[in-house]
Amino acid sequence: MFENAISITPSEVIEYLFCPRFTYFMNCLDIPQHEEKRYKVLKGRELHERRAVINKGYLRKKIDCTNKESLVYLNSDNHHIRGIIDEVLYLVDGTMAPLDYKFAEYKEYLYRTHRIQSVLYGILIRENYQREVKKGYLCYIRSNYLVKEVQFEQKNFDEAYQTINEILKIIGDGYYPKKTGYRVRCIDCCYKNICV
Ligand code: SF4
Repeated sequence: MFENAISITPSEVIEYLFCPRFTYFMNCLDIPQHEEKRYKVLKGRELHERRAVINKGYLRKKIDCTNKESLVYLNSDNHHIRGIIDEVLYLVDGTMAPLDYKFAEYKEYLYRTHRIQSVLYGILIRENYQREVKKGYLCYIRSNYLVKEVQFEQKNFDEAYQTINEILKIIGDGYYPKKTGYRVRCIDCCYKNICV
């Protein structure tokens, strides 16, 4: 059982996917990453750019939607997640979908982190709007606003729920997780001196 007060953002899920111990060091031991200040500056710039793009409504013609809401904050006590969704779309078939702008180039495949982030937004929309969510959209700004559709299958929702539960176990119980399986990530890691 976890306290309802625990609420995870998609960014925290991505950190966990990079290495579960990031979650432990940041949330249980309260040791920030050295890059945090720089990260905040970058995030601030990205937010500024994000607002400019959204306000221009670049995608009106690219996706068949009847309406949209921009920069929507949603929270789910049931699933312990919260986040700001770039665009919440009302599709012509009566379902809804999240749209997420990526300030990156599309690399011919979908990153696992991009997919899971989109699925998390889908869960938030489904619960808050009580409408079916079967897919999400990613818009790659550095690839000339290329839009990619992401179909959501049950296994994608299951993976998202499982990941959330694993994070809750670390934050809620203080569970010390395994190291990342990708040891190359340890080379430049700011936690490498305390990570045993
Ligand atoms: S040193 Fe490696 S295992 Fe430890 S936190 Fe960093 S990336 Fe994860």
